[in-house]
Amino acid sequence: MIRVVCPGSFDPVTNGHLDIIGRAANLYDQVIVAVLRNPSKSSLFTADERVELLREVSKDLPNVRVAKFNGLIVDFCRANDVSAIVKGLRAVSDFDYEMQMAQMNYNQAGVETLFMTTNPLYAFLSSSLVKEFASYGGDVSGLVPPGVLEKLTTRLNEA
Ligand code: ADP
Repeated sequence: MIRVVCPGSFDPVTNGHLDIIGRAANLYDQVIVAVLRNPSKSSLFTADERVELLREVSKDLPNVRVAKFNGLIVDFCRANDVSAIVKGLRAVSDFDYEMQMAQMNYNQAGVETLFMTTNPLYAFLSSSLVKEFASYGGDVSGLVPPGVLEKLTTRLNEA
Protein backbone atom coordinates (compact mmCIF):
# COMPACT_ATOMS: atom_id res chain seq x y z
CA MET A 1 0.00 0.00 0.00
CA ILE A 2 1.72 3.17 -1.16
CA ARG A 3 0.23 6.38 0.15
CA VAL A 4 1.52 9.73 -1.08
CA VAL A 5 0.71 13.31 -0.24
CA CYS A 6 0.21 16.34 -2.53
CA PRO A 7 0.68 19.36 -0.28
CA GLY A 8 -0.12 22.98 -1.11
CA SER A 9 -2.21 26.05 -0.41
CA PHE A 10 -4.77 25.39 -3.16
CA ASP A 11 -6.20 28.91 -2.89
CA PRO A 12 -8.10 27.87 -4.98
CA VAL A 13 -7.45 24.52 -6.69
CA THR A 14 -6.67 24.92 -10.42
CA ASN A 15 -6.68 22.53 -13.38
CA GLY A 16 -2.89 22.32 -12.94
CA HIS A 17 -3.25 20.97 -9.39
CA LEU A 18 -5.99 18.61 -10.48
CA ASP A 19 -3.83 17.24 -13.28
CA ILE A 20 -1.05 16.36 -10.82
CA ILE A 21 -3.49 14.90 -8.27
CA GLY A 22 -5.16 12.74 -10.94
CA ARG A 23 -1.87 11.46 -12.31
CA ALA A 24 -0.61 10.66 -8.79
CA ALA A 25 -3.88 8.82 -8.14
CA ASN A 26 -3.20 6.65 -11.23
CA LEU A 27 0.20 5.69 -9.90
CA TYR A 28 -0.30 5.16 -6.18
CA ASP A 29 -2.80 3.37 -3.96
CA GLN A 30 -3.83 6.43 -2.05
CA VAL A 31 -3.31 10.17 -2.44
CA ILE A 32 -3.87 12.61 0.39
CA VAL A 33 -4.23 16.20 -0.73
CA ALA A 34 -2.94 18.18 2.25
CA VAL A 35 -4.18 21.75 2.47
CA LEU A 36 -1.83 24.05 4.29
CA ARG A 37 -3.55 26.09 6.97
CA ASN A 38 -1.32 29.05 7.49
CA PRO A 39 -3.02 31.73 9.58
CA SER A 40 -0.15 34.19 9.01
CA LYS A 41 -0.63 34.07 5.22
CA SER A 42 -3.70 35.81 3.85
CA SER A 43 -5.82 33.71 1.53
CA LEU A 44 -8.94 34.31 -0.54
CA PHE A 45 -10.61 31.13 0.71
CA THR A 46 -10.47 29.76 4.25
CA ALA A 47 -8.79 26.39 4.74
CA ASP A 48 -12.22 24.77 5.17
CA GLU A 49 -13.45 26.31 1.92
CA ARG A 50 -10.31 25.15 0.08
CA VAL A 51 -10.84 21.62 1.43
CA GLU A 52 -14.48 21.74 0.37
CA LEU A 53 -13.57 22.82 -3.18
CA LEU A 54 -10.92 20.10 -3.46
CA ARG A 55 -13.38 17.43 -2.25
CA GLU A 56 -15.90 18.55 -4.84
CA VAL A 57 -13.46 18.52 -7.76
CA SER A 58 -11.85 15.20 -6.78
CA LYS A 59 -15.05 13.35 -6.00
CA ASP A 60 -14.62 11.03 -9.00
CA LEU A 61 -11.19 9.90 -7.81
CA PRO A 62 -11.97 7.22 -5.19
CA ASN A 63 -8.41 6.91 -3.86
CA VAL A 64 -8.00 10.63 -3.16
CA ARG A 65 -8.77 12.17 0.18
CA VAL A 66 -8.39 15.73 1.35
CA ALA A 67 -7.09 16.87 4.73
CA LYS A 68 -5.86 20.05 6.38
CA PHE A 69 -2.45 20.43 7.94
CA ASN A 70 -0.29 23.00 9.60
CA GLY A 71 3.29 22.77 10.77
CA LEU A 72 5.76 20.55 8.99
CA ILE A 73 4.70 18.32 6.11
CA VAL A 74 7.19 15.69 7.31
CA ASP A 75 5.29 15.45 10.61
CA PHE A 76 2.07 15.03 8.65
CA CYS A 77 3.76 12.24 6.63
CA ARG A 78 4.86 10.44 9.79
CA ALA A 79 1.45 10.73 11.43
CA ASN A 80 -0.38 9.46 8.35
CA ASP A 81 2.00 6.73 7.24
CA VAL A 82 2.80 8.55 3.99
CA SER A 83 5.63 7.15 1.84
CA ALA A 84 6.41 10.20 -0.27
CA ILE A 85 5.53 13.78 -1.14
CA VAL A 86 4.46 14.36 -4.76
CA LYS A 87 4.99 17.83 -6.19
CA GLY A 88 4.36 19.37 -9.58
CA LEU A 89 7.18 21.23 -11.30
CA ARG A 90 6.12 23.94 -13.69
CA ALA A 91 9.33 25.61 -14.76
CA VAL A 92 12.99 25.85 -13.86
CA SER A 93 12.00 28.69 -11.54
CA ASP A 94 10.19 26.15 -9.31
CA PHE A 95 13.23 23.90 -9.25
CA ASP A 96 15.71 25.62 -6.90
CA TYR A 97 13.29 26.08 -4.04
CA GLU A 98 11.65 22.67 -4.48
CA MET A 99 14.99 20.90 -4.55
CA GLN A 100 16.10 22.64 -1.35
CA MET A 101 12.84 21.78 0.34
CA ALA A 102 13.03 18.14 -0.80
CA GLN A 103 16.58 17.81 0.50
CA MET A 104 15.64 19.41 3.80
CA ASN A 105 12.72 17.03 4.24
CA TYR A 106 14.88 14.03 3.43
CA ASN A 107 17.69 15.23 5.68
CA GLN A 108 15.41 15.92 8.62
CA ALA A 109 12.98 13.04 8.40
CA GLY A 110 14.00 10.65 5.60
CA VAL A 111 10.85 11.61 3.67
CA GLU A 112 11.20 11.26 -0.11
CA THR A 113 9.87 13.81 -2.61
CA LEU A 114 8.83 12.80 -6.13
CA PHE A 115 8.51 15.42 -8.84
CA MET A 116 6.06 15.27 -11.68
CA THR A 117 6.49 17.59 -14.64
CA THR A 118 3.51 19.76 -15.37
CA ASN A 119 1.18 19.16 -18.24
CA PRO A 120 2.40 21.81 -20.74
CA LEU A 121 -1.18 23.06 -20.96
CA TYR A 122 -0.87 24.29 -17.38
CA ALA A 123 2.81 25.19 -17.14
CA PHE A 124 2.05 28.90 -16.63
CA LEU A 125 -0.77 28.34 -14.19
CA SER A 126 -0.76 29.29 -10.52
CA SER A 127 -3.53 30.08 -8.05
CA SER A 128 -2.20 33.60 -7.58
CA LEU A 129 -2.24 34.36 -11.31
CA VAL A 130 -5.76 32.99 -11.60
CA LYS A 131 -6.91 35.25 -8.74
CA GLU A 132 -5.16 38.27 -10.19
CA PHE A 133 -6.61 37.82 -13.68
CA ALA A 134 -10.07 37.03 -12.41
CA SER A 135 -10.04 40.07 -10.12
CA TYR A 136 -9.60 42.32 -13.17
CA GLY A 137 -12.37 40.58 -15.07
CA GLY A 138 -10.12 38.14 -16.99
CA ASP A 139 -11.64 34.90 -18.28
CA VAL A 140 -10.18 32.01 -16.27
CA SER A 141 -12.86 29.49 -17.21
CA GLY A 142 -10.39 27.13 -18.91
CA LEU A 143 -8.02 27.21 -15.95
CA VAL A 144 -10.13 26.11 -13.00
CA PRO A 145 -12.93 23.54 -12.65
CA PRO A 146 -16.46 24.98 -13.14
CA GLY A 147 -17.43 24.77 -9.45
CA VAL A 148 -14.29 26.69 -8.51
CA LEU A 149 -14.99 29.35 -11.14
CA GLU A 150 -18.41 29.94 -9.65
CA LYS A 151 -17.10 30.30 -6.07
CA LEU A 152 -14.19 32.44 -7.25
CA THR A 153 -16.45 34.85 -9.12
CA THR A 154 -18.78 35.16 -6.13
CA ARG A 155 -15.91 35.73 -3.70
CA LEU A 156 -14.25 38.36 -5.89
CA ASN A 157 -17.56 40.18 -6.34
CA GLU A 158 -17.98 40.29 -2.57
CA ALA A 159 -14.52 41.78 -2.10
P1 ADP B 1 0.33 27.76 -6.36
O1 ADP B 1 -0.26 28.88 -5.55
O2 ADP B 1 1.63 28.16 -7.01
O3 ADP B 1 -0.63 27.16 -7.32
P2 ADP B 1 0.30 25.65 -4.32
O4 ADP B 1 1.03 25.75 -3.04
O5 ADP B 1 -1.18 25.68 -4.21
O6 ADP B 1 0.86 26.75 -5.29
O7 ADP B 1 0.77 24.37 -5.14
C1 ADP B 1 0.84 23.10 -4.60
C2 ADP B 1 1.60 22.18 -5.50
O8 ADP B 1 1.01 22.12 -6.79
C3 ADP B 1 3.06 22.59 -5.75
O9 ADP B 1 3.83 21.41 -5.80
C4 ADP B 1 3.05 23.22 -7.10
O10 ADP B 1 4.27 23.10 -7.77
C5 ADP B 1 1.99 22.37 -7.77
N1 ADP B 1 1.37 23.09 -8.85
C6 ADP B 1 0.71 24.26 -8.78
N2 ADP B 1 0.29 24.65 -10.00
C7 ADP B 1 0.71 23.69 -10.87
C8 ADP B 1 0.62 23.52 -12.29
N3 ADP B 1 0.03 24.44 -13.05
N4 ADP B 1 1.18 22.41 -12.84
C9 ADP B 1 1.81 21.51 -12.06
N5 ADP B 1 1.93 21.62 -10.73
C10 ADP B 1 1.40 22.69 -10.13
